[in-house]
Amino acid sequence: MAYIEPAPIKDKENPLESMMSRFDAAAQMLGITEEMYYILKVPARQVTVGLPITMDDGSIKVFEGHRVIHSTILGPSKGGIRFDPAVTLDEVRALAAWMTWKCAVVDIPYGGAKGGIACNPREMSAGEIERLMRAYTVAMLDVFGPDRDIPAPDMGTGPREMAWLMDEYSKSRGMTINSVVTGKPLVLGGSLGRNEATGRGVTVAALAAMDKLRINPYRSTAAVQGFGNVGSFAAELLHERGVTVTAVSDVSGGYYNEKGLDIGAAMAYRNANKGTLDGYKGAERITNEELLALPVDVLVPAAKEDVITAENADSIQAKMIVEGANGPTSASADDIINEKGIMVVPDILANAGGVTVSYFEWVQNRIGYKWTLDRINRRADRNMKDAFDRVFETSQKYKVSMRLAAYIVAIDKVASTYKYRGGY
Ligand code: GLU
Repeated sequence: MAYIEPAPIKDKENPLESMMSRFDAAAQMLGITEEMYYILKVPARQVTVGLPITMDDGSIKVFEGHRVIHSTILGPSKGGIRFDPAVTLDEVRALAAWMTWKCAVVDIPYGGAKGGIACNPREMSAGEIERLMRAYTVAMLDVFGPDRDIPAPDMGTGPREMAWLMDEYSKSRGMTINSVVTGKPLVLGGSLGRNEATGRGVTVAALAAMDKLRINPYRSTAAVQGFGNVGSFAAELLHERGVTVTAVSDVSGGYYNEKGLDIGAAMAYRNANKGTLDGYKGAERITNEELLALPVDVLVPAAKEDVITAENADSIQAKMIVEGANGPTSASADDIINEKGIMVVPDILANAGGVTVSYFEWVQNRIGYKWTLDRINRRADRNMKDAFDRVFETSQKYKVSMRLAAYIVAIDKVASTYKYRGGY
């Protein structure tokens, strides 16, 4: 019997510390009380489970899974489930808090949560992943619920895993309950537009920021780090809006073409090539570090946490960073980036398009009616643009970065809601 040892907590760039240092700075600017500070800081609930799974070779492996509910002040908690070897409780705690701030920034009636299992789905068969997902769902039966805690995909999971979760949850309740999870396949009550939603929101945020910086999209360039669900759609939609995407990257490295990449061709290649760009022609090979340092107008980090740190922040030449991933910039890099005058559209704003359409999916499930793609896109775009404007105005009012402004908007909303609800 094997035990999958969760990755050790990195003491240098810990996402929980990165989240907390921004939270602290915004809480101070807002002047919230010490009581309120702790109400907003301490997660409402944390559950860690051991999941013994029979592997295809007959052996049993025990995986560690977490679900952290950071807050339910604004409504049922919402947040994805991550399958990645580097998952730790600290990471899940940071990601759960980010969901609280994200839902508050884009004004949707949810609290924040996140789930994670330390595992490597790339090395597991579909059957092993299915058993793991079903076991996790059963272990979390008293956590999940359409009015309580609503999971969704995150890194390493997608519609297929959400279908297993919905099925297992529904079986246990003796009826089909599709509103317990979002990001489902269309036939199970998934929403049109959910797949592209995060990348689409990144594009809306990037265009709004370009407008503020007086950059003409048709004369601009972008580099996108990460070519998964967020990065590839962001690249495609930026390209559609006239932006020349000169570089993209994934686990196999970076791909650069000064004249602009053919994003549609790169996506088709990846889909036919086990999900990676490995071997993709039509571009020059560059490293991930080189991609981050390209002299483009827009840099979209859309992979994972802590890729921009105090070590490489100085090499960034982009005019703006639009954070498709959660926590791609460590707190240690904030000052360097601000001093360089780079505009950052922070994660809790820039990548909120995904959870916004998740909310629309949940609404459709509850009313039992399917919206058209046009309706979903229009509403999601408008919501993103309104949130961008709110954060931009707050950054002007307080004379702070867009990141701090986003935290100020979020913390203010959650704290003032709590004042109405009250405690014990
Ligand atoms: N995992 C995504 C995020 O980090 C989506 C969460 C959701 O749709 O609930 O925003």
